Amino acid sequence: MNFGDTLRSGQAGKAVSPQCKQFGESKASELRSVHETTDVWELAAREGVTVRRSDWDGVDRLRLFGTYADGVITLYDAQIPALSETLEIEESLATELVLAHELGHHVLDASELASKPRSPWRKMLSPWGSSAETERAIEEQATHWFALELLGDRLPETARRKLRRGVEDTT
Ligand SMILES: [Zn+2]
Repeated sequence: MNFGDTLRSGQAGKAVSPQCKQFGESKASELRSVHETTDVWELAAREGVTVRRSDWDGVDRLRLFGTYADGVITLYDAQIPALSETLEIEESLATELVLAHELGHHVLDASELASKPRSPWRKMLSPWGSSAETERAIEEQATHWFALELLGDRLPETARRKLRRGVEDTT
């Protein structure tokens, strides 16, 4: 699942869990203290993640801000203005938000690889069972809080509120 989907679908909302928030936030501060920087671009570089920019402008109603797979983050630049407008923030900050979110997937992936077959964080965050859908939802929640924590005070409260609504909307 990608960042755009998370904002729209409310799927993550079905698995609202304070543990997801706590876990995502703790992973973000851990990363910050390991690399001793708060710069999202710098953090991606130090994690050895490749960041690609794509000018793909999506199809029809599908909106894709960014993706993460196998150490590569792709940012869909053509989509960023819409996000920036929705959240009422600068495009550069919107880009960093997407980057931070995808970096969250990388960090979660990395802790997963270190603990086969099933990572402890998935078990911890999903005590009620482990359907693929649930696991995706909790991962999206955790990465969401990871990103908010990483951006910290630079993300205005209005934008945070809108993002929270995206995640916690359980209807
Ligand atoms: Zn995501």
